[in-house]
Amino acid sequence: MRAVRKSLKCLTLTWAFSIAAMDRIACNYFNGIDSTAHRSTLQYVGQSIQISGDWGSELIAITDITISDRLGNAPRTISLPNGAACELDGGAQTNAFLSQFAAKESPWFRAQFDWRWAAASIAALAVFAVAGYRWGVPLASDFLAARVPKIALEKMSDVALLELDRTVLNPSKLPEARQRDLAERFAKMKPPGGTAIAHRVEFRNAEKYVGPNAFALPSGIIVMTDQLVELMQNDEQILGVLAHELGHVEHQHGMRNVIQASFIGAAVAYWLGDVSSVLAGGTTALLHTKYSRQYETEADDFGAAMMRANGLSPTSLATALEALEGRSRRQNADNTGTESAKSEGKQAAETPKRSARSRDWSDYISTHPNTAERAERLRQ
Ligand SMILES: [Zn+2]
Repeated sequence: MRAVRKSLKCLTLTWAFSIAAMDRIACNYFNGIDSTAHRSTLQYVGQSIQISGDWGSELIAITDITISDRLGNAPRTISLPNGAACELDGGAQTNAFLSQFAAKESPWFRAQFDWRWAAASIAALAVFAVAGYRWGVPLASDFLAARVPKIALEKMSDVALLELDRTVLNPSKLPEARQRDLAERFAKMKPPGGTAIAHRVEFRNAEKYVGPNAFALPSGIIVMTDQLVELMQNDEQILGVLAHELGHVEHQHGMRNVIQASFIGAAVAYWLGDVSSVLAGGTTALLHTKYSRQYETEADDFGAAMMRANGLSPTSLATALEALEGRSRRQNADNTGTESAKSEGKQAAETPKRSARSRDWSDYISTHPNTAERAERLRQ
């Protein structure tokens, strides 16, 4: 009772519209037996309410009644212990009357009617969503990436490579002995942690679309284009690029990207133990998502450590990055300049598709960001 009295005090202060000493109000009384509405009066008497009408009168302790919550201007209902009920219109007078003895509405409940709270809630939700995306999803993707079965990584990587071979890559034109020599020399290099990391180097000719580039697939397949081999000034630079790519494998950057890109599907798939949905969406995500600056730094650090562990200089990797960026810039400039000229003549139908494709790939290459900054870091 003390609580009710206390809340009465608070509410009297809180309500902006004070309706002074209002102790009675009209209501419709339903006896709980038939559906007839009896026009009645509801009166506040001490710690009870009295309901009176042509049907008679009833005095009920406030502790025995239940009052429905306020919801806009919807009618309010007072449920009585014997199955009867009183219905009041949902206007300001009703709310003021009920607030005298209804349990105090919680601040959360009242907040529903305050636009400032609504605006604050939307803002809080937005902050929560952004924070979830910024930190929650990467954290969860790291957790999940480490738990994707090896067979799934292999399948996804094989499918991705097949897709690349079908669209933008061609068999390497490098002599087989040269390919074997590079792959074997790289395989002999000690990774920084000492533990061997499963990988396979694949060379491809990518004259038309990709140009000089190297990338890693989650299973450990590292694809290096003939054009990258040609662009490098020496084999140490080639090994440096391979070491950088092995860093992406070691840190599972590809898989982390894929999971972040299809996060919900992947989370569900993980808990259901079905990776097929990740595989379906993953191959596309694998080929089109960019590595973040953080991932590139991690791969650079790994590459540099691997170079040092084998008596090679990380500077080679820095020089390789600069050469790649320089080449990529020239390629971008060429693409923009020659596009309109190329779309003439008998290739007209085919060319727009091709240039769109080569633009995709130059975007892909340009996603190795902040080359100058990275090169400087590697040289330190
Ligand atoms: Zn990279």
